[in-house]
Amino acid sequence: MRFMGETIRDYNIIVPGDRIMIGLSGGKDSLILSLALATLRKRSPVKFDLSSCLVNQTGGEMDISEIQTFMDILGIPLFYLEHPTYSIMEKRAERSPCSLCANLRRGILAWQAQQKGANVLALGHHKDDAVETVLLNLFYGGRFKCYQPNMVMSRTGIKVVRPLVNIEERRIALEATRLELPVANSCCPYSDKSKRNSAKKILGEIEKEIPEIKSNIIHALKNILKDDVW
Ligand code: SF4
Repeated sequence: MRFMGETIRDYNIIVPGDRIMIGLSGGKDSLILSLALATLRKRSPVKFDLSSCLVNQTGGEMDISEIQTFMDILGIPLFYLEHPTYSIMEKRAERSPCSLCANLRRGILAWQAQQKGANVLALGHHKDDAVETVLLNLFYGGRFKCYQPNMVMSRTGIKVVRPLVNIEERRIALEATRLELPVANSCCPYSDKSKRNSAKKILGEIEKEIPEIKSNIIHALKNILKDDVW
């Protein structure tokens, strides 16, 4: 809660009257985000609304009963959508399926947010996701960059926020286990062989030598000096 609160304050992520839709995958990150935002909604003097949307990208059946019960307990309405993302990815045989997948998912969620009258889309990206994105952009795109913790999508005008972006994945995983959250297993056919997974492994190796590598990369994102650019 403290780390998330600092990020929300530093990047002005929630303003009074925001209607926030949480992008749910059923994984630990989006469940922790839902719980944390529901807790904040109770405590915060800043009033905001919450809803959530789960996009089933498999093209097959998905049992959402446990997630539905969890969201009911939190008092967060849940919308459910199906989209055949994986079969689209298979047909297009992209070099980086994760990037196409993330773009499609974000587009669907932003559209759904608009339909339901939300002005903010909250995603569960954490610190490891951000650092892996930096590495992927650097290794495969030749640019040092990452998404912002708070940004506006130009096409829809929906604000996309990432309140967990300063929290390490291992902390989120520990918390999700400790709280026995109903975490769904990933059924993505690309999760083990994706470039993102390679970036995660590379990062793990570097971390053995340089334990503060993730914080250093995040720090570098905030401190790109003009004089250092060639
Ligand atoms: S690992 Fe799978 S679900 Fe995650 S971004 Fe990549 S393709 Fe999408």
